[in-house]
Amino acid sequence: MIVTRFAPSPTGYIHIGNVRSAIYPYLLARQAKDGKMILRIEDTDRARYVEGATELIEDTLEWLGLNWDEGPIVGGPNGPYFQSERQDIYLQWAQKLVAAGRAYADPTPPEQIDEYRKQCSQNKVPFLYRNFRPEQTPEWQPGMPLRFKAEPKNYTWHDEVMGDLSAGPEVQDDIILIKKDGFPTYNFAHIVDDAEMGVTHVMRGAEYISSTPNYLALYDALGLERPKLVSLPHILAPQGNKKLGKRDGAKSVTEYRDDGILPEAMLNYLACLGWNDGTEQEIYTKDELTNRFSLDRIQSSGARYDETKLLWMNGQWLRRIYDTDGPEALFSRTTGFWPESAADVSDEYKLKVLSIIYDRLKTLSDLRTMTDYFFKDPVIDLEMLLQNKFLKKLSESELEDLLKRTIAKLADLESWTADSLQEVLNALLAETGKKPAELFSLIRIALSFAPFSPALNLTMEVLGKETSLARLNAVASSI
Ligand code: GLU
Repeated sequence: MIVTRFAPSPTGYIHIGNVRSAIYPYLLARQAKDGKMILRIEDTDRARYVEGATELIEDTLEWLGLNWDEGPIVGGPNGPYFQSERQDIYLQWAQKLVAAGRAYADPTPPEQIDEYRKQCSQNKVPFLYRNFRPEQTPEWQPGMPLRFKAEPKNYTWHDEVMGDLSAGPEVQDDIILIKKDGFPTYNFAHIVDDAEMGVTHVMRGAEYISSTPNYLALYDALGLERPKLVSLPHILAPQGNKKLGKRDGAKSVTEYRDDGILPEAMLNYLACLGWNDGTEQEIYTKDELTNRFSLDRIQSSGARYDETKLLWMNGQWLRRIYDTDGPEALFSRTTGFWPESAADVSDEYKLKVLSIIYDRLKTLSDLRTMTDYFFKDPVIDLEMLLQNKFLKKLSESELEDLLKRTIAKLADLESWTADSLQEVLNALLAETGKKPAELFSLIRIALSFAPFSPALNLTMEVLGKETSLARLNAVASSI
């Protein structure tokens, strides 16, 4: 039986790294026939608690298709799934430690603790609270922090990703188990919860490795079996060897969603950020990831975050959905991403626009910036036309003449299809002796005044005869 958990703190912003810590536990649980993934909200740090953050976590997981078997909304036999509602449970476990002489109420005022800390830094020795452990400790009462009584020793342990690790006594301390406010610390609460919830694999960021000896000491003191420990590699900033932070341009997951990144692409990208299956494959569906995932292929070194790669992958996914699931499938994802000018336009027409532009999109929000001219006449920008690198060499009268010849030929065209439009364009090239880059840039700009558009014959087919001719005429008469 494999039981994994995702245990985020509701502090507001859902970072890329937080989400990856949900993906791997999800994949491992789904891969096992009777696997289970638990969502647990670690909300005991009341100072960092942000209203609405839990809903944001739930929405993000739902958007990515990472459903959980136990947790908020769905419930389950091991609830409550909010740590703030589990205080009785922590108290019971804490009492066990008190009774066994492995925890003590600490009456030392915070100012005194600061003083100890200062002394240590002046003497250039590491601060360990156990060196200042009070001799007399009162009976534990609310309002007083409860500390673990460390019995430091060497620890060795196996991390499924990092391999065999060890640490000496110098890293173990009298850590706080229950804070002054009555809430447990993460250090204590997660040990209790993982045990109570039957978690078999503790998968979390590598930043917890340094605290692991303290956790091992707690497992021992509480008589608990160690779960498997799986430390996920850091996600590094695009440049340099530091951890990815908000300032490195990485947005929250919901911002990526609002920018038109598909959940398939986000999942695919994040799953492969620190894991690979040993092949060259880059595009994976959720089912493929579930089948291929394995702990022993999670890399131990940090994984560099690369937004360009994410955008590339999103482009691949946009194409894949259109090509394999059909135009309607992609179209159904485009709601909210069209420019304002498309507001009253039929779905049928928008679908046509999508069909000629989808293979150039990196995100769905590119629709907003790249398709406006399909829905409303562009503002004529003669400078853009005259300064174009292919058109600069031609005189204004030459440009006007070329446009007029194009208009005359197109006006005679009865069947306005991509193929016959291509024939007309080819015939115009032959007749005028111009290079495709010249003639086609001229027509393309006159129709769109956009830096880019799909193939000219396709663009004209979608715009229709009347609109195309009207736009070409308008430009011809303003040169
Ligand atoms: N609540 C912790 C965090 O958000 C979770 C660490 C863990 O998964 O145990 O960092």
